[in-house]
Amino acid sequence: MTSAHPEPLQLPLPYPVYCRAGVRQTIGEIARLVAPSHRVAVISDSAVAPLHADAIVAQFPADSTRLFTVPPGEQVKTRATWAELTDALLEWGAGRDTTVIAVGGGVVGDLAGFVASTFMRGLPVVQVPTTLLAMVDASVGGKTAVDTPFGKNLVGAFHNPAAVVIDPEVLNTLPEDVLRSGFAEMIKHGVIADAPYFDAVLRYAHAVRDHGASAPDFAATITTLVIGSVRIKAEVVAEDTREGGLRQILNFGHTIAHAVERVLNFTLLHGDAVAIGMVAEARIAESIGLAREGLSLAIADAVERAGLPSRLPATIPLDDIIAATHGDKKAREGSARYALPRSIGEMEAAEGKWSVAVSNAVVKTALS
Ligand code: NAD
Repeated sequence: MTSAHPEPLQLPLPYPVYCRAGVRQTIGEIARLVAPSHRVAVISDSAVAPLHADAIVAQFPADSTRLFTVPPGEQVKTRATWAELTDALLEWGAGRDTTVIAVGGGVVGDLAGFVASTFMRGLPVVQVPTTLLAMVDASVGGKTAVDTPFGKNLVGAFHNPAAVVIDPEVLNTLPEDVLRSGFAEMIKHGVIADAPYFDAVLRYAHAVRDHGASAPDFAATITTLVIGSVRIKAEVVAEDTREGGLRQILNFGHTIAHAVERVLNFTLLHGDAVAIGMVAEARIAESIGLAREGLSLAIADAVERAGLPSRLPATIPLDDIIAATHGDKKAREGSARYALPRSIGEMEAAEGKWSVAVSNAVVKTALS
């Protein structure tokens, strides 16, 4: 552990990303540097708060800092919770001189980020991701949102964080299934942009599947992999901050994943749904001739090595999944669009477009 002032990673982003064991102990210092303010609102969930958020609150003056918690789980990522949090901030007296610190997984990051983006037309937010998935994906890129009955993330805003502070040590308290589910987005980063990174994730997935955070050399290896993923994501979002083009490749696996999550009423971990979605969407790419046969098997092998599901639960009616893909915000003019891989490390970009319209019949065959 260190208390020396940390150096951010060298990334093409307009905000600093810190990634180092022990860096959570300097969040007070980092927040004062990137977003000096009168008040600090720490937003977390009730499972993460006693483990990690309380110690962050303690780094700020008690009379101008408040912890706000929500119950854990995707079910709270709603407009109703957004309203409760903004009301609680108003009641406390938060104003434009307030910095929000989001301490938690992707749910807290998206929710607190959306609160910060809308409260008094925008407050600075420091993202402190505490799940592997949020470290490698959700905390970087500035997307914030809540879910609606019509689909996931349908109400939200682009709101860049003032800083992202990643401390891999907090992964030690993460339940093993949640830790494993983070590997889905890491595998995705390899598929969409970087074959050597895909291989590196694959080499370590087995160890984490079998031993969780007690896997050999966990701290050093996971830090290297997290930095690798953050770099890939940063390079993509730096080129396309508002998802007009290239950034759509980050949606690989997600059109099906969001449909599965919705049909299963958000009872599946997001990473598990992404694992199923990547295999199904690779199969779609094979069946329309974009990818060679074998790509979906390679991705299925990768997700299975990480201990993640590679196929849909047999009980889900395929027509429900197809219908749910049309509620996804990537659906245009009645046909669902998919960001599809050509091979590991390369995405389809026909005529400069990074997503492809696919008929329901093709999707259904790929899923069955
Ligand atoms: P999550 O936030 O629900 O966290 C999973 C569980 O882990 C929760 O029960 C939480 O309480 C617990 N937890 C978190 N950190 C812990 C820790 N260190 N120790 C012990 N328990 C801990 O799930 P998630 O997988 O992190 O995030 C999924 C969400 O992220 C989805 O809503 C998804 O849409 C969103 N997401 C957003 C983006 C983006 O770009 N904004 C990208 C990917 C995913």
